[in-house]
Amino acid sequence: MAEIIDGKAISSQIKEEAKLEAAELSKKNITPCLAVVLVGDDPASQVYVRNKKKACEFCGIRSLSYELSADTSEAELLTLIDKLNADKDCNGILVQLPLPKHIDENKVLLRILPEKDVDGFHPYNVGLLSIGKASLKACTPAGCIELIKRSGVDITGKNCVVVGRSNIVGKPVGMLLLSENGTVTTCHSKTRDIGGICRNADILIAAVGIPKFIKEDMVKEGVVVIDVGINRGADNKLTGDVDFENVSKKASYITPVPGGVGPMTIAMLMKNCIIACKAQNNIE
Ligand code: NAD
Repeated sequence: MAEIIDGKAISSQIKEEAKLEAAELSKKNITPCLAVVLVGDDPASQVYVRNKKKACEFCGIRSLSYELSADTSEAELLTLIDKLNADKDCNGILVQLPLPKHIDENKVLLRILPEKDVDGFHPYNVGLLSIGKASLKACTPAGCIELIKRSGVDITGKNCVVVGRSNIVGKPVGMLLLSENGTVTTCHSKTRDIGGICRNADILIAAVGIPKFIKEDMVKEGVVVIDVGINRGADNKLTGDVDFENVSKKASYITPVPGGVGPMTIAMLMKNCIIACKAQNNIE
């Protein structure tokens, strides 16, 4: 039976570390500050934004909140980003995705200064990630690595299989595993024999978006499983991309859904705010 990786506990540790760092910065009269921009009234996004603001409060990070109506134009949003880019007191800018259809998401993400890109989505930061030099790493992928490492699992030399190749999870998590000296294989919707590839994994990351996609017969004994999936069923219950009940019988470590990767995203965001603030104030 697998050891369950407690994402809530690990994310709390990381938020405590961010809080300590924010307290150190306050001794120098510096208060880290995150601007959160929400366009429209998507209920899930509203919950995420609320949780981000709560985490900021806990860590001692000032949060600026911009809640714009769904009919905000692209030009208006870009003007707000320019203003936040120029604001020396604002260290991080987060635009909650998805944006309404009339706004070009890419254009918006490109407009955020890379040093304020606490989501780690700007191509400049993605480029740094690919050469192993990123300081602002995409939050969910960086959270996966923390879960593995803080569980005492060494990634070096391990066969790491990532299922999913999205820009926000699959690709960056693959690059981070490579930076940690893992041997990485990425599977996607066109991959042949996914089961065979997954069975070779010492560390398996599932980021597919299909409930219970990873079954017991697709993993080997002792595998470490990180389930990024968040799938909401008709009953509103959350299910991961892994058949937890059965896969956990073979795994050595496994993350649950909820309570695994989910809480890590915000904790890593807090960490990125501190990193951004320190860099902007030339603090090592
Ligand atoms: P996405 O839809 O952008 O990408 C899914 C990937 O899975 C694609 O690369 C696709 O090629 C692959 N895929 C689809 N069907 C497949 C199949 N049959 N076989 C193999 N591969 C297949 O999704 P995403 O944004 O990467 O998110 C993945 C999951 O992670 C979703 O459930 C999402 O809700 C969740 N997620 C969680 C967090 C978090 O904070 N925990 C953050 C982001 C995403």
